[in-house]
Amino acid sequence: MTTITLVQGDITRQRADAIVNAANSSLLGGGGVDGAIHRRGGPAVLDECRALRASRYGKGLPTGQAVATTAGELDARWVIHTVGPVYSESEDRSELLASCYRESLRVAGELGARTVAFPAVSTGVYRWPIQDAARIAVEAVRSTRTAVEEVRFVLFDDRAYDAFARQVG
Ligand code: ADP
Repeated sequence: MTTITLVQGDITRQRADAIVNAANSSLLGGGGVDGAIHRRGGPAVLDECRALRASRYGKGLPTGQAVATTAGELDARWVIHTVGPVYSESEDRSELLASCYRESLRVAGELGARTVAFPAVSTGVYRWPIQDAARIAVEAVRSTRTAVEEVRFVLFDDRAYDAFARQVG
């Protein structure tokens, strides 16, 4: 059984086997949680991201997929980069958002990670409504068979924390 825990705060201050990054498909960093992870993780994270672009992901990491790098200076062994979908009112992209959580857990399981910290993927610049994103995230984790023992959602503000708390119950 995987335990879901909730924390309000900065994911870059967490200790976990793996910290998930809400990356963009370029893997070259960006704003929001991506920028924070690269700032605190340091150049080793970006170096591995560049190498992944040069080898497996010349066209970028596709939306809904996940890939691991070193965690550099973060208090973790790995960063798992996943690309969330941009929210759309005209198209249901929830499967892609769920896939970010499932694929990140699959990668985490392959690495042997037992604790994984997730941000609320797609709820910043990608504008996914927080309550709906929380439902998709929690359902995706609960329906994934994994050896990961703890999934920790690290929510930056009160609203995000409350949305996840309503889902977890
Ligand atoms: P996306 O492009 O997937 O929407 P963002 O980084 O813009 O990614 O936002 C995703 C979520 O991460 C938002 O809810 C935002 O408030 C949150 N966030 C931003 N910085 C941090 C941080 N340091 N730790 C945890 N969550 C963060």
